[in-house]
Amino acid sequence: MTEENQAFPAQQQEPPGLTAPMEPQPDHGETSYTGHGRLDGMRALITGGDSGIGRAVAIAYAREGADVAISYLPEEQEDAEETARWVERVQRRCVLVPGDLTQEDVCRQTVERAVEGLGGLDVLVNNAGYQMARRDSVADVTTDDLDRVMRTNLYALVWLVQAALPHLESGSSIINVSSIQAYQPSNALLDYASTKAAINNLTVNLAAELGPKGIRVNAVAPGPIWTPLQPATQPNEKIEQFGLDTPLGRAGQPAECAPAFVFLASPRDASYVSGTVLGVTGGKPVF
Ligand code: NAD
Ligand code: MG
Repeated sequence: MTEENQAFPAQQQEPPGLTAPMEPQPDHGETSYTGHGRLDGMRALITGGDSGIGRAVAIAYAREGADVAISYLPEEQEDAEETARWVERVQRRCVLVPGDLTQEDVCRQTVERAVEGLGGLDVLVNNAGYQMARRDSVADVTTDDLDRVMRTNLYALVWLVQAALPHLESGSSIINVSSIQAYQPSNALLDYASTKAAINNLTVNLAAELGPKGIRVNAVAPGPIWTPLQPATQPNEKIEQFGLDTPLGRAGQPAECAPAFVFLASPRDASYVSGTVLGVTGGKPVF
């Protein structure tokens, strides 16, 4: 492969992956995101807020005036501390909640620790997710992979919503993270893709149940975004081509996803927006 038609240099990590070894470094909006007070005084729990899309959301929310709690796996402590530094730089609080969300009790404790640290909860961003793409066929899907994908992407989402509900008042919202994979599933990601389709379904269902309480529920569906998840779960052939097949011809950066999460969390801007999926896909269809 020549350098001209290569999206990213070949690189591999083990899950969950870290930011520091990535080449090039992702853009989380550190030098570009400007807040406008859209989330003044709000309190958000962002799962997987240590890195990638979650870090970009944490930085944007802080600059919009929100305090945040971020959850992550214990081995991602260095990434979590980097996110916290950016949040604290604009005098917002960042509560660090390490823990494995594939465990029900950890999900419930994560919400409680966030609520304690923030003094309440207005936004739950279910962003933590897992995939494994180093395989070609359904024949290669292991039961361990299935368990990890389903528990991280679906079970944890339900447990986190259950734990958060008693704390969410009218005007608060839940934002789930779907994927282009819900609409255009890849063979290698069939288990992951199915969880993202289920997350869309859960989003409209929860929006219907929680609407009467004044709680909005939406999802963001990213396309190919340059985050640690990619070198940690995709083979090198995919890394080198990552994002080149989108209409915009490139992968997106985490920073390019954050404004969608700000819009959906804003009780003013998105006051009548619930049960919808907002695509940030570089032009790929989300219908
Ligand atoms: P990322 O690796 O930076 O973030 C995923 C995070 O999930 C990790 O940082 C980790 O903290 C968390 N996580 C995973 N398993 C966990 C567990 N068992 N317990 C606690 N936390 C756990 O990658 P990202 O791409 O920013 O992923 C964020 C979300 O975006 C995921 O839901 C992913 O499916 C979705 N997404 C990503 C892309 C993409 O191209 N990067 C595309 C579509 C959707
Ligand atoms: Mg991470």
